[in-house]
Amino acid sequence: MAELTIGLVLPDVLGTYGDDGNALVLRQRARMRGITAEILPVRLGEAVPESLDVYCLGGGEDTAQILAAEHLIADGGLTRAAWAGRPVLGVCAGLQVLGESFRAGGRIVDGLGLIDATTIGLQSRAIGEVASTPTRAGITAELTEPLTGFENHLGATLLGPGAEPLGRVTRGTGNCDVAAAADDVDDGTRQRFAEGAVQGSVIATYMHGPVLARNPQLADLLLARAMGVELDALEPLEIAVVDRLRLERLR
Ligand code: GLN
Repeated sequence: MAELTIGLVLPDVLGTYGDDGNALVLRQRARMRGITAEILPVRLGEAVPESLDVYCLGGGEDTAQILAAEHLIADGGLTRAAWAGRPVLGVCAGLQVLGESFRAGGRIVDGLGLIDATTIGLQSRAIGEVASTPTRAGITAELTEPLTGFENHLGATLLGPGAEPLGRVTRGTGNCDVAAAADDVDDGTRQRFAEGAVQGSVIATYMHGPVLARNPQLADLLLARAMGVELDALEPLEIAVVDRLRLERLR
C-alpha cells in the first residue's frame, strides 16, 4: 500500500478537459520527494472509498456531469470523505457538482452540497486564459503565488456565505460574469471577481490546465493537506519546465 492514495473521481465522465493530469501531478510531486503514491480511479457505478488521502474531480460535459452528481449523491462516499476533512479538488464541472445545484440539460440538478454555491447560466460561454490572486481563505491560507489556468464554461457560479472564493480574478471571467453577479445585489462585487471556491477541505476552481501543473504551489498545498503537514514541511522541488510554463502563461 502506497503512503499516499489519490482518488481520481469519475475520470470516465469528468475527464473531458485533461484534468486527470491533476492526479498525475500530485503523484509525481509526491514521488519526487520519495513518498510512494498511487492513483485510484473510481469509475461511474463504483463506490468512492472514504479513506483516500485526496480526491480529484475534473471537468465534463453537461450530461456527463448530471450522471456524476447522481452517482456521487447516491453513493455518499465522497461526501463522507469531505466531512471527515479529507482534501478534495474540484475543477469546472467538478466544482459545479460539489455545489448545491447546477443548471444542465435544461433543468436544475442537485449537487453534493459540499460548497455553498449555485450554478446558473452565463450570458455567453467563458473561454480563455484566467488568472487570479489567491484570497488565502480557509485551508488555502498558505497560498502566495498568483493562480493561472484556462476556462471553458457556460455555468455561472454564485457563492453563498458558507464559501469563500479561491482567488480574485485579475484576468478572464472566473465564476460568473457581470450580468449574473448583478442578480445578486448584496454582494455583486464579491461575486464579480470570484474565481473558484474554498469551503472546509474542498478547493474548487474553473481553471483547467491542468491547474496543478500550472500552479505547483497549489499542488503542494493539496499534497501537504493530504499528508497532514504544513506546506513548508515539503522539500522544495526545482522543475525548470514548470517554471517556464508558469512564466509564459502568466505573461
Ligand atoms: N458543462 C459545464 C459548463 O459548461 C462544465 C464545463 C467544464 O467542465 N469545462 O459550465
